[in-house]
Amino acid sequence: MSNPTFHKTQVVIAGAGPTGLSLAAQLIRHNVDFILIEKNEKTTELSKAVVVQARTLEIFQELGLSEEALQRGQVTTGMRLFYQGKQKVSLDLAGLGKGISEFTFALSLEQSKTEKLLAEYVTAHGKTIHWKSEFTRFEQKADGVTVFYKNEQGNEQQINADYLVGCDGAGSPVRHQLNLSFEGSTEPKLFYVADVLLKSPVINVNALHMYLIKKGFVLFFPMEGSGHYRIVGILPQGNTDKVYQFSDIAPLIKESIISPVTFEELRWFSTYKVHSRKAGAFMKDRCFIAGDAAHIHTPAGGQGMNTGIQDTYNLAWKIAYTLRGETKSSLLKTYDTERSENAKHLLQTTDRIFDIMSGVNPFWNFIRLNLFPLFFKVIANSPLAKRVVFPLLSQTDIAYPNSLLTLKSHIGKVKSGDRMHYFVFSNGKNIFHYLSEPCFKLLYFGNKAANNELLQQSKIKTSTLAFTEIPVSVFGQATDFYILLRPDNHISYIGEDINQCKKILDHLAN
Ligand SMILES: Cc1cc2nc3c(=O)[nH]c(=O)nc-3n(C[C@H](O)[C@H](O)[C@H](O)COP(=O)(O)OP(=O)(O)OC[C@H]3O[C@@H](n4cnc5c(N)ncnc54)[C@H](O)[C@@H]3O)c2cc1C
Repeated sequence: MSNPTFHKTQVVIAGAGPTGLSLAAQLIRHNVDFILIEKNEKTTELSKAVVVQARTLEIFQELGLSEEALQRGQVTTGMRLFYQGKQKVSLDLAGLGKGISEFTFALSLEQSKTEKLLAEYVTAHGKTIHWKSEFTRFEQKADGVTVFYKNEQGNEQQINADYLVGCDGAGSPVRHQLNLSFEGSTEPKLFYVADVLLKSPVINVNALHMYLIKKGFVLFFPMEGSGHYRIVGILPQGNTDKVYQFSDIAPLIKESIISPVTFEELRWFSTYKVHSRKAGAFMKDRCFIAGDAAHIHTPAGGQGMNTGIQDTYNLAWKIAYTLRGETKSSLLKTYDTERSENAKHLLQTTDRIFDIMSGVNPFWNFIRLNLFPLFFKVIANSPLAKRVVFPLLSQTDIAYPNSLLTLKSHIGKVKSGDRMHYFVFSNGKNIFHYLSEPCFKLLYFGNKAANNELLQQSKIKTSTLAFTEIPVSVFGQATDFYILLRPDNHISYIGEDINQCKKILDHLAN
C-alpha cells in the first residue's frame, strides 16, 4: 500500500446519512471547515424515514430549505383509527400545531429525498462529499485527532483535525473504537415495511390510517402522490428463519384490516428488527457520536432521523464557538448531557407507545383493543392533543431544563431551557423570523431602551433585538424583561435581571 496522504481540517464527519449531512450543513452555517467521508457511493435510494417533524422543518427554514422540502413532500392532514374494519376515530391533523410552530403538521418526505436535499445544500456551498471513502480508525491526543480512512482507490488517507464526529449509523465504527456501551433492547418480533401503490375505497385520502388488530397494528402512512402509502406491521410469529416476500404478507394484511384494498405496485419491501438503544455517552474528549450512532428508536412517532438532525443542530454551534476560542471547551460537554437526556426521554416515550401499539404486553393489549379507540376519540377532540401530542411528536417541546447553560427562570409558561416559544406579531411576522442568525441573542420586551451595555463587555458576542409588542397569550402581563437565547434558540435565561444573562455568558466565555 502507498504512503498515506495527509489532510487537515477542523472537523471530520464520518458518515453522510441524514445526520452527517445535517452536521455538514450546520457547520457551513457556522463557517467551520470539515471533511465529510462516506463509504457508500451516493445518498440512499431507500425511502426509510418518511416523517419530517415540525422542529426539523424550522431548522431547515434557517438553512433556506423548508420551502423546497415542502414542495418535494406531502403534508399529512389527518389520521383515522380503525378496529374490526370500522373507522372509530377521524382526526384533522392539518392545524394541530397551530400556535406552536409555523409548521403545524408533519411532512411526509422520503429519507432519500431528505438526504438529497441536504447533499445539494452541502455541494452548493462548495463543499465536497467524499463518497466511497471508508473511515477505518482514529488516534486522539490532547490537541487533536488523527482520522484514517480508505479512499476510492483503497489507499489509506490521514486527516489531522480538531474534532471527529461519528454519524456512521447504528453499527458505528466510531462508537466501537470509543468503546462506548450501546445499551437497550431489541424487540423479539420481526416487522415489515412496504411502500406500495394501492387502490381502496377506504384508504384513499391523505391521512395516516391506523388499523388495530389482535396481534399488533397495520399502519398506512400517506406518501407523495395519490394511492402511495408506506405500510408498517408485524410479521407472523413462528419460523424466524423464513425470508418473507410482500406476496406472503399481502393476504394477511387484507384479512386483518378487513377494509377492501388492492395492491397495484410494490416499490420497496423490507423486514427489520426494532431496536431501542442509547450509547453510554455521546462523546469522549475530541470525538463525538450523533444520530443512530448514539441512539436508535422504535418506529413509533417517526422520531429517529429527526432526533439525529437535532443532535447536529445542538453540536455544531458548540464546536464553532469552541474553535473560535470564544467559549471554554467545557461547553462541548453540554452536547453529551443535553442530547443524552433527550434520547433517554425519547426512548421512554416512544418505546412505551410502541409496547402498547405492538401488543407485546397482554395487559396493554387488552387496554389497547378495548379502550384505546374510545380513549383516542376523547384525546383527539380535547385540547390535550394540541397541548401534549403535537409538541411531543413534532419535537418542538424538547427542552434542556437541567443543562449548565440554563439558569432556572420563567415568565408565565415560558421557562428557561425551552425552545423559544412561537408567536406571531401584529405585522404578521413570527418570532423565528427574527432569530435565524446563528449566534447568542438578547431579546428585550418592553418600552424602555434595552440595557445591553453589560453584555458588550463579554467575550461572547450577542445580538440585541428589542420588541415593544408583548403577546399576552405567551408572556401574560409581564413587561420590561429579557430573554437570552442560545444560537439554537433555546432559552438560557428569561426574566428582568440582565445581570443573570451576563453571569451565564461570563461562565461560558474563554
Ligand atoms: C424502515 C425504516 C423506517 C424508518 N422510519 C422513520 C421515520 O418515519 N422517521 C424517522 O425519524 N426515522 C425513521 N427511521 C430511522 C431513520 O432511518 C434513521 O434514524 C436515520 O437513517 C439515521 O440517520 P443517521 O445518519 O444517523 O444514520 P444512517 O442513516 O445509518 O447513516 C449512516 C451513514 O454512515 C455511513 N457509514 C457507516 N460506516 C461508515 C464508515 N466506516 N465510513 C464512512 N461511512 C460510514 C453509512 O454508509 C451511512 O450512509 C426509519 C428506519 C427504517 C429502517
